[in-house]
Amino acid sequence: MHEALLTPYPFVKVALPVPMRTLFDYKVPKALALRHELKPGMRIKVPFGKSSRLGIIVALSETSDWDPEQVKPFTSLQDEAPVITKELMALCTWAARYYHHPIGDVFFHALPVLLRKGENAEFRTENWWFTTQQGQTQPLEQLTRAPRQQDFLKAVQQHPNGLSQHAASVLGLAPAAGKTLEEKGLLRREQRSFNRGGEKHAHQTQVPPTLNPEQSIATEELLDRRHHFGVALLDGVTGSGKTEVFLRVMERLIEEDKQILVMVPEIGLTPQTLKRFESRFNTDIVLMHSNMNDRERLDAWLLAASGHAKVIIGTRSSAFIPAPNLGLIIIDEEHDNSYKQHEGFRYHARDLAIKRAQNLNIPVLLASATPSFESLSNAIQKRFVWLKLRQRAGNAHIPEMERVDLRGQTLVNGFSESALAAMQLCLDRKEQVLIFLNRRGYAPTLMCHQCGWIAACDHCDVNLTVHKRANKLHCHHCDTQKALIHTCPECQSEELFTVGEGTEQIETQLHTLLKDTPILRIDRDSTQRKSAMAQLTQKIHEHDQAILIGTQMLAKGHHFPNVTLVIVMDADAGLFSADFRGMERTAQLITQVAGRAGRAKKPGHVLLQTYHPDHAAIECLCNLGYEHFAINGLSERRALALPPFFHQVIVRAESSNEQEAMQLLSAMRNDLEPLFSNEIFLVGPYAAIIVRKAGQHRALLSIKSAHRAPLHQATAMMTQWLEQSTRQHKIRFAIDVDPLET
Ligand code: ADP
Ligand code: ZN
Ligand code: ZN
Repeated sequence: MHEALLTPYPFVKVALPVPMRTLFDYKVPKALALRHELKPGMRIKVPFGKSSRLGIIVALSETSDWDPEQVKPFTSLQDEAPVITKELMALCTWAARYYHHPIGDVFFHALPVLLRKGENAEFRTENWWFTTQQGQTQPLEQLTRAPRQQDFLKAVQQHPNGLSQHAASVLGLAPAAGKTLEEKGLLRREQRSFNRGGEKHAHQTQVPPTLNPEQSIATEELLDRRHHFGVALLDGVTGSGKTEVFLRVMERLIEEDKQILVMVPEIGLTPQTLKRFESRFNTDIVLMHSNMNDRERLDAWLLAASGHAKVIIGTRSSAFIPAPNLGLIIIDEEHDNSYKQHEGFRYHARDLAIKRAQNLNIPVLLASATPSFESLSNAIQKRFVWLKLRQRAGNAHIPEMERVDLRGQTLVNGFSESALAAMQLCLDRKEQVLIFLNRRGYAPTLMCHQCGWIAACDHCDVNLTVHKRANKLHCHHCDTQKALIHTCPECQSEELFTVGEGTEQIETQLHTLLKDTPILRIDRDSTQRKSAMAQLTQKIHEHDQAILIGTQMLAKGHHFPNVTLVIVMDADAGLFSADFRGMERTAQLITQVAGRAGRAKKPGHVLLQTYHPDHAAIECLCNLGYEHFAINGLSERRALALPPFFHQVIVRAESSNEQEAMQLLSAMRNDLEPLFSNEIFLVGPYAAIIVRKAGQHRALLSIKSAHRAPLHQATAMMTQWLEQSTRQHKIRFAIDVDPLET
């Protein structure tokens, strides 16, 4: 007699996290087919070469493309239900094709690290303490000689619904005391799932402000469109109340029992933002960012997947978070570069989110004070709904921008006389100054006065940055660190000096100059510890007058009501960049930093230090603002056939040998160019701006086309060519679709 098979298919097609753009066939073991219904998206263990791997079932199949005798059975099943939902399966499959990236790697990227490693997709369990009947009535006085047990029992008695182990350790209760009480029969323990879902937090809900007319119009538009796919660009100057607008839209969708994904830049999620969300929604909010450990991330993922978490706030990788009732995706600071992954699977979270929303027929909201040229161009061409907020919310005013001509001036610690004077006046008014310099460390260069030797990285073509406080030389490209030296290794002279300034140096020098003024530095070095950023912002709010010095970390999302003066030390940073996006980025940074000034009742003022005050881009940005600047920039891009008017793919190759990567790309161009459509334009191969990084010599080939289809076709041909020819060589290659770096 035949037993019915729950899985009537003999084969599965499996994606594995290997750099091959193919699926692998395995046989379904008979015993397993009897007991389990296999579904795409479940994880299985498979034999692979001499080892075993975790893979994801992509499809069940009647047949195999291989000789069935040769196909091996897989080893075991990891999941009861798919960890990649049908919806995400479609998204990942699309992404693998669009980005020409190995599908297995895409799936694994979409999962939290612990699931990639084979952990069960279940909430962790935690010990909970309860009193027994005896324990509930036990008089505490009888334990006076065991004060720890007394404390423990008292705490549990006060928590009739149980006390979690986590809460017990927060209360400082000794675990050993709990165990002794358990042995005495006064307490019992229970394992409970760490499922915070449904556990409502009693937040005090804030009364929202009355919307101004621009905000009302935008909110109404968005509410009208809330049940269908569509992309809206909420283009509002800093402090214009964009967040307030999307809080309103979210509110309505939460009432409709929808989940909302809010994406934020890598360092854009401030404690202030979170507090603001929590004070508005009496619902479960989960976070997903790089400061969380793997277990916390899995728990957040599970809460989203279960539908309990109504609001999910996360960075780039949350584009892949499962959410069964997803009703809206918001991308805050949509222009931010951290939405693009710059290594491995080089996806753009904004573009993926738009594709995802399209599949789900839900809206996407992009918000920025400085929209990317890509999004702006889509808005101009009416592919996106363009919602503008041009007034600051409340009574705040847009700060004025003024150029400070540095030509021929004697600078003191990098400051012009007028900047120093403005700083002093601002401090005298008991207000705060924000100094922006996008260079951390003490100085970008260490040089020998006698022989001209410069401290350079052994593995990259860049100079080492001096970090005096840490007493180190640090490569910001490959992370190599060395002890700071005081003798020249070439000529043994002790006359080493630093060239240029970084945030650490400005901080040190201002300390000497202004002894009593609190000076706070905010950059990657000063905020490494988990709570450092929160502590720093706390300090900023405590003081009246203060100086804040920072890198681009300061440009994002922060609200410092007492900052009235912003000094941009070096407004020329992007002017002559080899990257055609250099000026776009600088303009975004300057505008964002400038937006930190005068956010409350006091008016703000911005000083841009520049050696090129008459440069058209700087002049336009100062006098007419970001939108004008961007529209001019876009027409330049159109004239030069650059993105977003042309689509681009960059093939990157790197090898430890100086010539090999370049030779490989040349050979590929020679082989394939005759086969490409005449709509394809090739540039290169050429060397990367920093040729050698972490010991690898890097070469690029750029491919452009006005249309996507021929570009994808050409990219597919190149990928295939490279897969075949890199097998013999030790060359790594990467396909970068819609690259943001050249
Ligand atoms: P953005 O996201 O554009 O930077 P926010 O939404 O953070 O702007 O608003 C800036 C500040 O103005 C916040 O402190 C916010 O509470 C306040 N705000 C927003 N909308 C209004 C309004 N209509 N009336 C008064 N204050 C407002
Ligand atoms: Zn020397
Ligand atoms: Zn290096």
